[in-house]
Amino acid sequence: SIAVFGSINIDLTTYGARLPRPGETLHGDRYAIGLGGKGCNQAVAASRLGAPTVLIGRVGDDTFGQRALADLRSTGVSTDGVLVDAGAETGIAVIGVDAEAQNCITVVGGANMAIDASDVERCRGALEGASVLLLQLETPLDAGLLAADIVRASGGRVILDPAPAPRGGLPADVLARVDIVTPNETETELLVGLRPGNPEEAARAAGMLRAQGVAAAVVKLGAAGVYYQDAESEGFVPPFKVDSIDTVAAGDCFNGGLGYALSQGAPLGEAIRFAAACGALSTTKAGASSSAPTLAEVEALLGG
Ligand code: ADP
Repeated sequence: SIAVFGSINIDLTTYGARLPRPGETLHGDRYAIGLGGKGCNQAVAASRLGAPTVLIGRVGDDTFGQRALADLRSTGVSTDGVLVDAGAETGIAVIGVDAEAQNCITVVGGANMAIDASDVERCRGALEGASVLLLQLETPLDAGLLAADIVRASGGRVILDPAPAPRGGLPADVLARVDIVTPNETETELLVGLRPGNPEEAARAAGMLRAQGVAAAVVKLGAAGVYYQDAESEGFVPPFKVDSIDTVAAGDCFNGGLGYALSQGAPLGEAIRFAAACGALSTTKAGASSSAPTLAEVEALLGG
């Protein structure tokens, strides 16, 4: 199975002609309430492809938490690893989107930030049974790394999405405790001091990441494609041509797809191609978790 250790949010998104200025009140056109948080998005993406997926995290004891749990279950994600924390509020992202699709986002981490080593212990069985663990940086890193240690000790692989990347980069030992790291351009710059604009620069950045002790580096270049490198292989996957309307959670759908393909035994290059198709397809639909593609959609894009 696939285990995801990470954040669970409710996204409250308003749509209007423009974004309000400080002190101003505007009438918007409509709003949407959906599941978000990188952990949640990656879990839903893996589950929609058909992988048995367990999410480890926390929500608050409130209506948003109940909503998140119900939505997760309806997508097939196991919520056995989600703790309802009476001492915290469910994480939220309050998102404003204007007519040009520019956005402003405030995230309140809430229960996500209360995750600690006890969550790892509570879910030890699920972690030991996982062939792949998906990690991100919206929850406390020390707990995520403890989960990584357990998965690796029992023969599974760990994929770290270093998002959002901390300003000063990652502490020195972090990349040595995971197997694959998947930064986008901004995150790559924060981790190695080089913003990759093409495959050659991505290759250089990947080499620098691997020098920090991670076996495989995957540099996501958004609409320009993705570059990957490990000891045996390297390559660039150009972007799949799709009609993009909304790039929210493209990276999360990519990582969910990467986890799925690796759990099915695909070699790295093949798994990256599969993940890139997932990322591309997610941009053809609105929303975060709601934009994850099905296996049939991915196979159609790969085959066509
Ligand atoms: P993040 O959301 O982490 O910034 P990216 O935007 O780089 O991630 O998207 C992840 C991957 O999804 C890309 O490397 C690419 O393979 C695919 N992708 C993203 N946007 C597009 C797009 N507009 N067209 C085709 N593929 C895309």
